[in-house]
Amino acid sequence: MNMSDMIGVLSAKGLKVTPQRLAVLGALVALPNHPTADSIKAYVNEQFPSLALGTVYNILDVFFEKGIVTKVKTDRDFVRYDIEVNGHHHLYCDECDYIENYFDEELDNLLQSYFQRKGIPNFNIRDINLQIVGSYINHNPPKNL
Ligand SMILES: [Zn+2]
Repeated sequence: MNMSDMIGVLSAKGLKVTPQRLAVLGALVALPNHPTADSIKAYVNEQFPSLALGTVYNILDVFFEKGIVTKVKTDRDFVRYDIEVNGHHHLYCDECDYIENYFDEELDNLLQSYFQRKGIPNFNIRDINLQIVGSYINHNPPKNL
């Protein structure tokens, strides 16, 4: 996602394009590991040293309300943010705390047809996201958690 894509994302959601919002969006695109607000702040602070954590949270809340990001929860307490809003699953490494997007159309079809056939009593399924927990066999986790 380049700068004009990012401006397009904000405009399409009816948001005023500000340098701070662009910086936070840029951090979400640049940091591959479903970053926390803290790591987004650290990244953005290279460009905007005075941007406070509260401001980062406010921007992330607006992005969440507008459907630009989703939130990912792990066993640890921090909320992580996800810029990929198209349906996908997650691989979660419980050793290095890395979260990787996992796309598998065959799995999606399998899950969809399973639940279409079987259903869950008294529950209306809107979306199915798997969190596949394990650990990388050969992986040097990036340090930008
Ligand atoms: Zn994701």
